[in-house]
Amino acid sequence: MTVVGLGLPSVATISSAPATSAPADGPLIDTFGRIATDLRVSLTDRCNLRCTYCMPAEGLDWLESDRLLRPAELTRLLRIAVTRLGITSVRFTGGEPLVAKHLEDVIAATSSLRPRPEITLTTNGVGLARRAEALKRAGLRRINVSLDTVDPTRFAAITRRDRLSDVLAGLAAAKAAGLDPVKVNAVLDPETGLDDAVALLRFCLEHGYQLRIIEQMPLDAGHAWERGRALSADDILATLQQHFDLTPDTAPRGSAPAELWQVGGGGTVGIIASVSHAFCSACDRTRLTADGQVRNCLFARQETDLRLLMRSGADDAAVEAAWRAAMWAKAAGHGINDPGFVQPDRPMSAIGG
Ligand code: SAM
Ligand code: SF4
Repeated sequence: MTVVGLGLPSVATISSAPATSAPADGPLIDTFGRIATDLRVSLTDRCNLRCTYCMPAEGLDWLESDRLLRPAELTRLLRIAVTRLGITSVRFTGGEPLVAKHLEDVIAATSSLRPRPEITLTTNGVGLARRAEALKRAGLRRINVSLDTVDPTRFAAITRRDRLSDVLAGLAAAKAAGLDPVKVNAVLDPETGLDDAVALLRFCLEHGYQLRIIEQMPLDAGHAWERGRALSADDILATLQQHFDLTPDTAPRGSAPAELWQVGGGGTVGIIASVSHAFCSACDRTRLTADGQVRNCLFARQETDLRLLMRSGADDAAVEAAWRAAMWAKAAGHGINDPGFVQPDRPMSAIGG
């Protein structure tokens, strides 16, 4: 197998036999030796919020229903991922996964797979208060709730919906249901984000949530992202250091994207420098869209159509081989900082963040 080194942490022991195509078995590996064990599944491209950095106010042209994976197709792909491809963790996302009525059923089906994968959810938290317990019962263990500010006026401006109280109730319900940890994902507004970060960290420390601040990426549907306008991890860290006593967390990061800081007095905060300090060399992710396309990267410009393959009668071995081939072709990095970078056609909400 031909594996090209990235000059970064070695993630696999590779035989030196040359091969131009993906291995037929073993881990889900790419030509750089990275092994994908973390599957991100988008359950829907629809959403009940309209975050300015993600979706336009009028929404998008949603995927037609016959293009969406049917529950049995999704369950089959999850089984193939876990039992044939070595996937050990599955994160459900979207769009907004709570908009998907079958979320609890999908989680329960995933939970029944052996070896049982770790199951997590990324949600905007609207409606979570009513479903947190059922999600936990179905097999959910951890949750990330997206919240960019705790100021109601700014929340309404960023999401174009007045739903802050719903999200706060969702967070509280997640904690009460025993989901652990409860993480808060924040993408900061370029104008107000540094103030928001300070208030968010205070709020999270007070409630026992783990804050993760994510650099804004060029994945908005309007292609309006501008280099230099979005706040960088360095800006965010410098601001937080003015208000909190932060020391670097020395535990090995592995493939975790967040650089973690211990906060004096207890708690942690993570900063995910997806753009300014890319962590592609340690990437362990593979992605499945709601319409059954495998993507080997958020920024991939090509997809592999597993829905079509399944609907044309392919057996599990053929689906597995197609998934392996898709991952084998994964690029070294997202290329955001390259002069020729081209944003993918699909926005974040249709890929699954
Ligand atoms: N609707 C759910 C939510 O907001 O958590 C799940 C899907 S959303 C696409 C997943 C994550 O992607 C959220 O934390 C969101 O803030 C983040 N996100 C969306 N657009 C982004 C962008 N352009 N850059 C960085 N993160 C983004
Ligand atoms: Fe919806 Fe999540 Fe995109 Fe906001 S970030 S519009 S909540 S998909």
